[in-house]
Amino acid sequence: MNYFSSDFKLGILGGGQLGKMLLYNTRKFDIYTCVLESSKEAPCKTACDEFHLGDLMDYDAVFNFGKNVDVLTIEIENVNVDALEALEKEGVKVYPASKTLRTIQNKAKQKLFYIDNELPTAPFSRFAYVSEIEDAVNNGGLELPFVWKAAQFGYDGNGVKVVRQLSDLENLPKGECIAEELVPFKNELAVIVARNPSGETKTFPVVEMEFHPEANQVEYVICPARISDHVAKKARQVALNVSKAFNHVGLLAVEMFQTEDDQILINEVAPRPHNSGHQTIEASYTSQFEQHLRAILDLPLGRTDNKVGGVMVNLVGAEGYTGNVVYENIENIMTMDGVTPHIYGKKQTRPFRKMGHVTIVNADLDEARRVAEDVKKSIKVVSE
Ligand code: ADP
Repeated sequence: MNYFSSDFKLGILGGGQLGKMLLYNTRKFDIYTCVLESSKEAPCKTACDEFHLGDLMDYDAVFNFGKNVDVLTIEIENVNVDALEALEKEGVKVYPASKTLRTIQNKAKQKLFYIDNELPTAPFSRFAYVSEIEDAVNNGGLELPFVWKAAQFGYDGNGVKVVRQLSDLENLPKGECIAEELVPFKNELAVIVARNPSGETKTFPVVEMEFHPEANQVEYVICPARISDHVAKKARQVALNVSKAFNHVGLLAVEMFQTEDDQILINEVAPRPHNSGHQTIEASYTSQFEQHLRAILDLPLGRTDNKVGGVMVNLVGAEGYTGNVVYENIENIMTMDGVTPHIYGKKQTRPFRKMGHVTIVNADLDEARRVAEDVKKSIKVVSE
């Protein structure tokens, strides 16, 4: 099929920053794009060929949008999967597949998938209601501490809580959830796997993620991870195995824990470009976004190793500021070597909202990590 400067239409569900960065690459290749998104002010608005307003969870909105494209992909998981299944039956190529999304959208189902496919993950129990957890603890069926996770619609750490005593369960959403063993991990790692319909597969180097202690959001992503070759090889193999088990097409970001004794346990996966791969734009031979396009269009995959060391810092809204966004000291960070800010185009900031990111590249990774700290101390996302 001819995708380039042709009648071919790529549909993208979701109009956020991941979509916007994907669109840099559809522009590069001159591929025609249609975006469906519920917010008029979304980051994708200026970069696509057609912008359609609609609710991603609404069957008709997704089905009618998808009917008019040749290949349909996502930049967010919470979309109407029944509509995707119907579109697949109509012959639309949907990547990731509806079946995969159905499994991933629900953390309990996702965990069961790992168990069924003998993929390593922390032990867990599944509950229909939070109140059942309390009963399980009281009758000795579940031991404290554990990690509570909402089965659905958790995002950026807000559906996750470490429960050390029963009172920690108060005020949590009441619905379906899992209680997962608290993993005493050494590192949080991630590997992005790309796979095209012909079965060609490539993994990006392992990245190391450092989290903000309160917000549960990634603070620094370091690539390549400062781990032994042995552990890196194991992490890449686990990620490949997950991609294979899903028979996945497109990118699959696999988040993992490296335990004290160097076991690799899968935390969760995202079937799309991911926050842990943003540094690939500047640091890698092929960016994750270009690779996602290559994969879903069944084109040859690009080389995945780094040209230089890369560190990524998320730019999230500072606490105490809500309103029209201002990037304080952005000129200052642009005086630093190898520093590139990315501004997503959200006009309003609020505490911890992802507003942009900064990539720091350097042949010396330790130096990149040091500069990243200077970046973090300097730039602030505030309001007018
Ligand atoms: P989200 O889907 O919101 O990103 P995650 O499942 O990735 O949620 O969890 C967010 C963070 O919580 C993880 O990155 C990790 O730091 C911590 N966490 C999650 N599960 C566990 C666990 N079983 N043991 C210890 N920490 C965990």
